[in-house]
Amino acid sequence: MSEFLSNFDVDSVREDFPILEREVRGKSLIYLDNAATTLKPKMVAEAVYEHYLMGASNVHRGVHQLSEDATRLYEGSREKVRKFLNARRSEQVIFTSGTTASINLVAKSYGKSNLKEGDEIIISQVEHHSNIVPWQMLCQEVGCTLKVIPMNAAGELIIEEYEKLLSERTKIVSVVYISNALGTINPVKTITEMAHKHGAVVLLDAAQAVAHTPIDVQSLDCDFLAFSSHKLFGPTGVGVLYGRTELLAKMPPLMGGGDMIETVTFEKSTYAKLPNLHEAGTPNIAGVIGLGAAVDFVTGVGLKQIAAYEDRLLEYGTKKLIEVEGLKLIGTAENKASVLAFTLDGVHPHDIGSVLDMDGIAVRAGHHCAQPVMQFYGVPATARASLSLYNKKEEIDKLAESLTKLREMFI
Ligand code: PMP
Repeated sequence: MSEFLSNFDVDSVREDFPILEREVRGKSLIYLDNAATTLKPKMVAEAVYEHYLMGASNVHRGVHQLSEDATRLYEGSREKVRKFLNARRSEQVIFTSGTTASINLVAKSYGKSNLKEGDEIIISQVEHHSNIVPWQMLCQEVGCTLKVIPMNAAGELIIEEYEKLLSERTKIVSVVYISNALGTINPVKTITEMAHKHGAVVLLDAAQAVAHTPIDVQSLDCDFLAFSSHKLFGPTGVGVLYGRTELLAKMPPLMGGGDMIETVTFEKSTYAKLPNLHEAGTPNIAGVIGLGAAVDFVTGVGLKQIAAYEDRLLEYGTKKLIEVEGLKLIGTAENKASVLAFTLDGVHPHDIGSVLDMDGIAVRAGHHCAQPVMQFYGVPATARASLSLYNKKEEIDKLAESLTKLREMFI
């Protein structure tokens, strides 16, 4: 049992991840790059393997047993995701290739058909590029304007400034739930409430949030929510766009083709209903089935338990890292999850990453697809250790030890 929390058995969780027994450069792997992607438990890999080995069929179209099986599993995953997000109906869950694809779908479909010159979109200073660039593209296309909620030195959004940005011109507010670069947990429920008072629709980028906090779209009252399976212990190349039925149903499909139609003649085609309307072509069937297994995995462990465990780990990690001489934490929000981003005096973040790798410790170094965050702090890059449910206190101790050694090496 963890000495942090008596109801969280980290050693038993680790048994689901055979990769954690791997050695890297002759050392036991310490995987602290979870914000980039999470490791996969056996049950996810087995679900994907099983589909290709014993299922392998296409969905929706076949009348034979294999196709029925694949369809049942594929649609079963949709229902699992519905429940996971507490969405009202499974048709509100659209499978995409990931968060980026989900945000682009909203920008290019909902955005293009609803926004015009003079309208405004609000994002925040702490966004991932995938929640910046699609909106810039939309602004260029329709002539609307992008506004940015500023943040304070700790990496917290300044809600009074957000209030000032809102007006009847605001049509979309799109913000990240948990920042991948800083770990800040944004007050998304308040942000949503305030946007709705001005009649704007709200998209939440939950790419990081899904693996760290329980999500309830009805309680959040958001209009859209996007996430990627691979940050939730599931396969890459698959993700979700949740949306309000009335918005999704009116959105023009971005792609035309098989599976999204009702009838086709050379004169005219009519379209299928939700969710197929936005899922043209053969989907990532194995990926979706794997995502269903990932949802089973996290709900089995319990997101509340995961969040509580990771909070203790983050608290411990923060204490340990600030003891390292010359280390400066980047992102010190009061409400924060699972990210320890930092700089080390006299050592470039890329060197930190490479030297830690020699100790078997995987962290990320760079701008984390959040260049405006780096610009805000006046740094070209940071090193980032990001935590997940299988990380242990002892791994943080090793990280702190390696960083102390590393600093002595460079100074
Ligand atoms: N938003 C956030 C907050 C992220 O962390 C990421 C992935 N780093 C994305 C969006 C994009 O996710 P994907 O690359 O899986 O589409």
